[in-house]
Amino acid sequence: MMMRLAGWYGAWAVPVWLALAPAVCANATDAATKAAEAAAEQTPPATPTAEAPTVGTWHVREVDGVEYVPLEDLRSFYKLMPLQPKGRKVAGQRMVGNGEVELRFGPAPRELYIQERLCVLTHPVQEDATGDLLVSKLDVVQVIEPILRPTYIANRSAVRTVVIDPAHGGHDTGTVTPYAREADVALVVATKLGAELKKRGYEVVFTQEQNQYQSPQARVDKANAAPAAIFVSLHLNSGRSDMKGAQTYTVAPAGKNEKPLPGHEFSQASMALAMAVQSSLVEKAGAEDGGCRRAHFSPLNSLRCPSVMVELGFATHPEEGTRLSTEEYQLKLVEALAIGIDSFSRVMNPATVMQVQKAPVVETPPAPVKVEPAPPAKAKPAPQKARSRKAAPRRRAPARRPARNNRNRRRR
Ligand SMILES: [Zn+2]
Repeated sequence: MMMRLAGWYGAWAVPVWLALAPAVCANATDAATKAAEAAAEQTPPATPTAEAPTVGTWHVREVDGVEYVPLEDLRSFYKLMPLQPKGRKVAGQRMVGNGEVELRFGPAPRELYIQERLCVLTHPVQEDATGDLLVSKLDVVQVIEPILRPTYIANRSAVRTVVIDPAHGGHDTGTVTPYAREADVALVVATKLGAELKKRGYEVVFTQEQNQYQSPQARVDKANAAPAAIFVSLHLNSGRSDMKGAQTYTVAPAGKNEKPLPGHEFSQASMALAMAVQSSLVEKAGAEDGGCRRAHFSPLNSLRCPSVMVELGFATHPEEGTRLSTEEYQLKLVEALAIGIDSFSRVMNPATVMQVQKAPVVETPPAPVKVEPAPPAKAKPAPQKARSRKAAPRRRAPARRPARNNRNRRRR
């Protein structure tokens, strides 16, 4: 039973970007598989929703007008153990994990590292009288949950179109330094990314292609008109000359008395996309990790699809700015972005996890995973068997073929 479950879960449903971090997962597939098995064994309580103050075993309490849940609840929900932070113990750090997934809170109160990838939380973590850490409910629902369990994202749907938004253009040059020109770099990376994504089978829409200025609203309109789309805006950052690293932004949550924005409908998917892209930039392109972050940038607020704004690096950093202007690094960025988008796309496609019953509903406890008959075993058949004529008509060989085809189809 478990083996079969592990087969499809390991292949399709795992957050692929988590597996990218080699720090914890010696064998990413096995790790993800084990995590999936652990998840399947339990019928977890619902994650706290925005409306209900207490759901299942979550103990919600308020600190400074913000709702928090104890780290203990988080641990039991995701089956995590307290861990000792590696290396030098830094004050304020708290780490939980299960040998496969690791969450490290701190040292700064808004810093959460998931598999050593930085997510900047909306609300700082707090410590209660007993010394337990409190994490804001909003960050649990909108950051931790979609990254750890992307297949539970409520409005998960297959990605057909990637809207690529090369930032700025025309009279709006963006940041210009002796090392890099933002609009130029964004356009080159966008154009190459578009070609790469077309090769991978996506439809591609550009918000501008000829270094033309487009208003934020025009960009939004183009994206919102595209079917089954995601939106990826490409920028270069600016700051102090010692600041560097790639950052990926999603729409910030609404404030206390603010109405939700259109972009909020896709907050969870956007966060999953951000982590997929950001992890890939770090792993594949070697970018410094500036983290997944949230902000009210104008296009992100109004987009009716999963959307991210990627700051590929700092144009103001002499070394990083210079690197951003080289074709070699631009190609690395293109490949990393495409891989990240592909990872996200795989996990978002409901067809790839059809065995999960009504899983994509965060508000109610997900139904136990139903195990359907035998997807292909993960283990490679022994080479002799594969070559043997006798082995070919056995169930095992034909069972493997569809899986391979599926994989090819998705990659194309
Ligand atoms: Zn910009």
